[in-house]
Amino acid sequence: MLKTIYTCPHCGSEDLLADAYVHLNDEDDVRTFDDITCESCGAKGIDPNTERVEAGPPTNVEFVTDLMERSRRGALIQAFVLEALLSYASKVAEGKPEDFDSGMIHGAAWHDCGVELKEKLLARFA
Ligand SMILES: [Zn+2]
Repeated sequence: MLKTIYTCPHCGSEDLLADAYVHLNDEDDVRTFDDITCESCGAKGIDPNTERVEAGPPTNVEFVTDLMERSRRGALIQAFVLEALLSYASKVAEGKPEDFDSGMIHGAAWHDCGVELKEKLLARFA
């Protein structure tokens, strides 16, 4: 998996910030401007160098985000993933904690994850 790294053309630092406009009443409304600043050397208005690097396997959070955002069925996949989560969380929540004991997992903790996730999903759909 490749990702793009931006670096300062003056000092090579990866600590770059882009000016952004954030709508106070709509947190999804974020627009970045062209004014990029280097945190390390203080250069402003730079045109960063770019480098494609091997990023290694995605984290679990990145993987789940990717499941939700990229599908040949478009946004329908989001309803599917949430339905799948609710289905498994409900199955665990309705079981007995000791049913989920295993060498690696404490059944009570696994059961409690199911209860928590089911509660959150039902509240979301309410
Ligand atoms: Zn710099």
